[in-house]
Amino acid sequence: MKHDPRWEFFKCQRCGRCCIEIGLPYYAESAIEISQFLKISLSEVIERYYGKVVENGKTFRLQDKKGKPCPFLRKEGGKYSCTIYHIRPYGCKMYPLETDFGCQGVDCPAARIANEEFEKKSASADWQEDER
Ligand code: SF4
Ligand code: SF4
Repeated sequence: MKHDPRWEFFKCQRCGRCCIEIGLPYYAESAIEISQFLKISLSEVIERYYGKVVENGKTFRLQDKKGKPCPFLRKEGGKYSCTIYHIRPYGCKMYPLETDFGCQGVDCPAARIANEEFEKKSASADWQEDER
């Protein structure tokens, strides 16, 4: 999953911006996992966090209620954390990779730092290459 070299420099600052501004990503698998994790029925999870199931032939998707900030976000001691971290949706695990490493949408400070550090390292590697 983390093959982009910028991950090496990425350290989440726990500012909460992605979870506040984007909110909970919508995947059917996530609703099932959340239901198992919270020990509540799937229909309750859908009603509370997703709106309704939209059927489309053989597949189904969850209607995006655009609930923001994400209801699973908590703030403690000035830092944000995810209360379902171990089962957080795929989009959360991949963030900020899916936003061109923070270059689109939310201003992610960790992505900004990672991009800068990566640029510095690349420039230094280029310089060492030129010196040979
Ligand atoms: S599930 Fe967790 S990581 Fe994903 S948006 Fe909500 S609080 Fe953030
Ligand atoms: S915006 Fe970036 S630094 Fe802030 S919580 Fe999200 S991933 Fe972490």
